[in-house]
Amino acid sequence: MTAAGKLSTYQAKRDFSRTAEPRGDTGADAEQRLRFVIQKHDATRLHYDLRLELNGVFKSWAVTRGPSLNPQDKRLAVEVEDHPLDYGDFEGTIPKGEYGGGTVMIWDRGYWWPEGMTAEEGLASGDLKFTLDGERLHGSWVLVRMKHDRTGGKRVNWLLIKHKDRFAVDGDGSALLAEDRSVASGRSMAEIAAGKGPAPKPFMVQKAAK
Ligand code: MN
Repeated sequence: MTAAGKLSTYQAKRDFSRTAEPRGDTGADAEQRLRFVIQKHDATRLHYDLRLELNGVFKSWAVTRGPSLNPQDKRLAVEVEDHPLDYGDFEGTIPKGEYGGGTVMIWDRGYWWPEGMTAEEGLASGDLKFTLDGERLHGSWVLVRMKHDRTGGKRVNWLLIKHKDRFAVDGDGSALLAEDRSVASGRSMAEIAAGKGPAPKPFMVQKAAK
């Protein structure tokens, strides 16, 4: 499927006359290295959206309690629709009443790569092992797809788990979630919600560098 075809669900859920989120047609360039972003999203429930670049889009999961550095923590990661690559530069507020209404912060970003197999194989098998090289998150992780959710609903649930390595911790694996500061703009959630402070520095769309 083309990147544009993969984004039809993303586009159908949103009214772009009302939300400042990208439509996904400005064309962030695919890079040799695969990028990732994590967006802290203060919607109906606070969650962290993990987005992994693959084949021209972001594969996306809503991590309800956020990532944990403690390998004993299994964090629910609900698969959501593919997002456009330029979404990785989005920071701001989605209007109340719109899909995903609430404040979005670029909480982490950097590069990722699959371990031991291709990303496609990992996703298809429901066991994607990968490394993150971000500003906040580093080292080895796994996303494991759960067999079936009890409700028989349409949601596909995964678990996000830290592997044991030098970046793992024994105690409170959530401590770094308290860092309420955008890696793209330096702003807090309150400053983003108020529309104050500097604009985020782009990462996905870097036309000036060309
Ligand atoms: Mn979200």
